[in-house]
Amino acid sequence: MTLVARPGALTDIGLHRKTNEDTFVVAPPLFAVCDGMGGAQAGEVASALAAETLAAAVADGRPLLAAAEQANAAVFQRAHDDSDSTGMGTTLTAVVLADDTGHFVHIGDSRAYLLRGDVLEQLSDDHSLVGEMVRDGRLSAEEAVTHPHRSILSRALGTESLARIDEFEVDLQAGDVLLLCSDGLSGAVPAEAIRKTLGRADPGDAAAKLIAEARKHGGPDNITAVVLRLDEPPAADEEVTLAVPADEAATVMLAAPVADAGPGDGLEAVAAPPDLPSAADAPSTAPSRGSKRRLGGLAVVLALLVVVAFAGVLTISTVFYVGVDDGGLAVYSGLPAALGPLQLHAVYRRSSRPYESLDPAERRLVDQQGLHTRSSIMALAETLGMWP
Ligand code: MG
Repeated sequence: MTLVARPGALTDIGLHRKTNEDTFVVAPPLFAVCDGMGGAQAGEVASALAAETLAAAVADGRPLLAAAEQANAAVFQRAHDDSDSTGMGTTLTAVVLADDTGHFVHIGDSRAYLLRGDVLEQLSDDHSLVGEMVRDGRLSAEEAVTHPHRSILSRALGTESLARIDEFEVDLQAGDVLLLCSDGLSGAVPAEAIRKTLGRADPGDAAAKLIAEARKHGGPDNITAVVLRLDEPPAADEEVTLAVPADEAATVMLAAPVADAGPGDGLEAVAAPPDLPSAADAPSTAPSRGSKRRLGGLAVVLALLVVVAFAGVLTISTVFYVGVDDGGLAVYSGLPAALGPLQLHAVYRRSSRPYESLDPAERRLVDQQGLHTRSSIMALAETLGMWP
């Protein structure tokens, strides 16, 4: 049976880090989390480059493992070419959904979980020093949580020319919920709280609540959650309805920060506060590949429009501008424009500073809606006092 995935995804800088080195991908049927590591801003470069390379390769039709190996090669090459990036790497936990099967690849200590009924199961093994010790029986899972060396990885993407990447498949059922997350979430939030939160009906709501939980537990690291709720496709006579809300589909596509992700643009910290709704956690009704085949003419046209929009997002998500959202300042990802019914932008991070409080010179900076790379938009946001 073909299952339809509704995603909710969010990343947050946490409470102690100066940058966010996590990146997530929401590009149905591909979903992924990367947690970068390396000095200076190399961790951000590594996770963004891996995510971007993976998404492009999967979109090109490459099998997931081959796409992950391509991402490894890209990060490894960049680390070799750029002396500022030497030694950088990233975790990668990704799934491609096909009918009722989840095809996973995994390397590092980000995690994949499955909630089925009331039971939460960790699908991935942690490729970390303490993860190996727990599997060898030398350490308990409880001891691992506070072990001083818990952040040392035994495997990562991009640190060697050939990466040892785990690959596995999981048979999925309607009602299942998948979670891909960075260790900033799994290391901070007890499994029981993850289990309860994943049970929430709305995946965007669950992602936001998980981020909030991690912050409540101290938020020592960057926090990323990609929640996927799997359901049966609607009955045939509902299918056109499923594909019609182009606005909603556009929100999902534009929210996909595959290219949060301009590699080498001197990436800066970005995060959506968990207590604010983010475009990235908008629930999706993106049709699955199986159901697309059965769509009527109108739906096919709309689906094509979404594909075009998605191709565009790879480009436009590498640009940012400051705009006004509901009276307050916000950093937007994309272009301040629309293509027919598709908005070419999404709120990337909201500020609590109201537009009204800006002086005339500051207003001019906002009104011109100039386009920036991620590093320069964060500098502008700083200038405007957007993050007190
Ligand atoms: Mg981390």
